[in-house]
Amino acid sequence: MAGIYIHIPFCRKACHYCNFHFSTVQDSVPQMLAAINKEAFLRKDELTETVDTIYFGGGTPSLCTVYDVQCIVYELRKHYTINPTAEITLEANPDDINEEKLQGWKSCGINRLSIGIQSFNEEELVWMNRAHNAAQAIGNLKLALQYFDNISVDLIYGTPLLSHEQWLLNLQTVAALNIPHISCYALTVEKGTALDKMILQGKKQNTNADKQAEHFEMLLQWAAENNYEHYEISNLAKQGYRSKHNSSYWQGKPYLGLGPSAHSYNGKQRQWNIANNALYMKSLEQNMIPFEAEILTATQRLNEFIMIALRTKEGIDFEDKRWHLVDDRWKKKIIQAAEKWYLSNDLIMTENNIVLTDKGKFLADGIAADLFQLE
Ligand code: SF4
Repeated sequence: MAGIYIHIPFCRKACHYCNFHFSTVQDSVPQMLAAINKEAFLRKDELTETVDTIYFGGGTPSLCTVYDVQCIVYELRKHYTINPTAEITLEANPDDINEEKLQGWKSCGINRLSIGIQSFNEEELVWMNRAHNAAQAIGNLKLALQYFDNISVDLIYGTPLLSHEQWLLNLQTVAALNIPHISCYALTVEKGTALDKMILQGKKQNTNADKQAEHFEMLLQWAAENNYEHYEISNLAKQGYRSKHNSSYWQGKPYLGLGPSAHSYNGKQRQWNIANNALYMKSLEQNMIPFEAEILTATQRLNEFIMIALRTKEGIDFEDKRWHLVDDRWKKKIIQAAEKWYLSNDLIMTENNIVLTDKGKFLADGIAADLFQLE
């Protein structure tokens, strides 16, 4: 099982909190898509396994024309072995959604949409500098449901403007529409973003860790009451609707990342393309892929496994075959390090697993760091 990720590095507007790689200047979209298609061709021998998931992310893939998306899918089918039942996801922003695009996406094989709603509250959307408004969020989500049943929405919690009532209302809106998958992220103020600068200048209020923890607690309770499986710290799904693409990342499956800033992983080596649109396109014109790479040591692979696995519902599974890549004595050390978290009720340990409790989920990154092993 393998995956392909395609990074479309353009957006209509820069959301103030975002630190992904994108440009709001869209003059070079056609050249960029040609470069991505060329990269798909040049790297065809790097991924010979059957591809079970394809993910169009960004940036904003939904601002491409249907024809553009169709060309990329066509190129991928030409150069890679794509499972006929592959999950093919496209990230879409509400302001791009209309009947013509929905029909077009379906006809070119997209079978899952990930929609960047973030909030149904107008004031908050303005605060985030999103390109869509609250009416588009709800109206176009309903429209999308007429064409796709496998839909995920992104929501952000813990922003200064988001009250507990509004957070619950956002979640209830999703449940009322029977959306089968939700990705929920606490607002993080990343260094160098517009939001970071505005907070430093006193123009915007900072986030509050206690409020974020309360929103997360509300999310866990709400998920349990509404039959959403909390299968990863930031992801919830109705039965049968887990994201296959993200799940394969968490299971350490290989994936190929195409486009500027896209990351790839082959089980041993991680590589990432240059995060610069002009240089990426110029290199591809000369049939060169501009990337950097690092070969992960056994310890790095183990620590990565600990960090990712601990965030999932299944936790660290000692029977996982990735575990056998590393020395067995590490198992003992990890169990020793986990004991204090077991005693403080932050995780459960069985013979074969270490799984976070709801209490421990608040501290996932810190607990993982505590279990990390030294080179
Ligand atoms: S639309 Fe998405 S990728 Fe683009 S700026 Fe906003 S959050 Fe970032």
